[in-house]
Amino acid sequence: MLVLAGHAVQAVSVGGLETCVQFPGLDLAFDIGRCPRSAVQRSRVLITHAHLDHLGGIAMHAATRALTGLEPPLYLVPAEVVPDLEALLATWRRLDRSRLPCRIVPCRPGDTLSLGRDLEVRAYRSDHVVPSIGYALWSRKHRLKPEYRSLPGSAIRDLRYAGTQVAEEVWTPDLAVPGDTRIDLLDQEPTLLDARLLVLEATFLDERVTVAQCREKGHIHLDEIAARASDFRNQAILLTHFSARYTPAEVRALLDQRLPRDLRRRVTPLLPRDAR
Ligand SMILES: [Zn+2]
Ligand SMILES: [Zn+2]
Repeated sequence: MLVLAGHAVQAVSVGGLETCVQFPGLDLAFDIGRCPRSAVQRSRVLITHAHLDHLGGIAMHAATRALTGLEPPLYLVPAEVVPDLEALLATWRRLDRSRLPCRIVPCRPGDTLSLGRDLEVRAYRSDHVVPSIGYALWSRKHRLKPEYRSLPGSAIRDLRYAGTQVAEEVWTPDLAVPGDTRIDLLDQEPTLLDARLLVLEATFLDERVTVAQCREKGHIHLDEIAARASDFRNQAILLTHFSARYTPAEVRALLDQRLPRDLRRRVTPLLPRDAR
């Protein structure tokens, strides 16, 4: 399992084949292309879009959770996808003669979902070839208001006892998972560049698929990331969704060649050995 910017990540992602990015510590998964065994444990799955490599495992996920006595999962799903997904699950229920218990919550850009007192998911429109939603996880922290920061601890305590509000709350983006997208999304959702951990797709990495062809398919090319290298302020970036045409050795070599050193240092490619 990977640990990036303080988050344990258990992930598999190969373009066109299977994507499921899990955060066991948050009881959260993004997409469920084929339902890895470990993902059965995740009670909340946030779906970015309905391509099969991102949604194909959803019925199996619901079924396996029911089979093993786990509570029905929550699926956050782009609103446009919900009617067809309900119909698909209804068909599976008839075929499988099972209930496939789950809760499907439609999600629109701008929606928020609370994951606890100090944690919420915020949704935004992603830039792909089908209706897509990206997610960011924001966490709330309390810090001293600027005017009290130079005071000694005892003075702060006295102020607190006297009922003065010495702290202010700040929300910061912890994690961003835009799903399959064109690079242009970085202009529309600049918080992606500030999230402590960014999970970013890079489907194509060299001239075998050109930037223009890549954009046509609604994906990001490594050259586009390199061209914006100085924009990324993230502590860590997990690059995912590489096309199956690249071997792990090629992926590493291409990242080394094409990314400036400061960005390369913060980038972890998600390769098959990291899966499951
Ligand atoms: Zn995909
Ligand atoms: Zn896709």
